[in-house]
Amino acid sequence: MKEKGISEDFDSIIVDSFNYEIIPFIKKPGTFDVIIKINGKTQLELFGFDLLFDFREFHASSKENAQKKQEFDTRRIKPDMRERFFLFTCTCGAPDCSDIYKGVLIRREGDKISWLVDEKVEKPKKLIFNAKNYLDLDQKLYENLKELAKNEPGLIYGGTQKTLAEIISQL
Ligand SMILES: [Zn+2]
Repeated sequence: MKEKGISEDFDSIIVDSFNYEIIPFIKKPGTFDVIIKINGKTQLELFGFDLLFDFREFHASSKENAQKKQEFDTRRIKPDMRERFFLFTCTCGAPDCSDIYKGVLIRREGDKISWLVDEKVEKPKKLIFNAKNYLDLDQKLYENLKELAKNEPGLIYGGTQKTLAEIISQL
């Protein structure tokens, strides 16, 4: 089944290393960002854009569905999942503010999870993750942020007006 507007011409990248850093914004005390590194590269190096990595969408995408307020690890990506999420967004939190209208196509194929990034890039890129590593990283990020929200509930996420505690409570 083909989706309209999907390029068949993309660079495939096997993801060997995938990690994240939670970093405070030096210029705006009390705010923080989540920086992801794929194969040792930041999204700026990898895609040429430096947008907010939205861990809410990331977390929702790693669940069977994006229904909120359910127990964390009772849901997993459906085996045949094929859905778009706004993993990268404007630092204000609104994707269209940075001309992002499609989002990243996330697919689950067996023991692999892939992202097709086909907007805001010169050439589309398909990143292929090991599903177990991906889900483990999601869980770790979630636990870390939950802990951080407990210790610093007033911390603001990126340029959004939302506190970390508020965001975590909605996951
Ligand atoms: Zn914006």
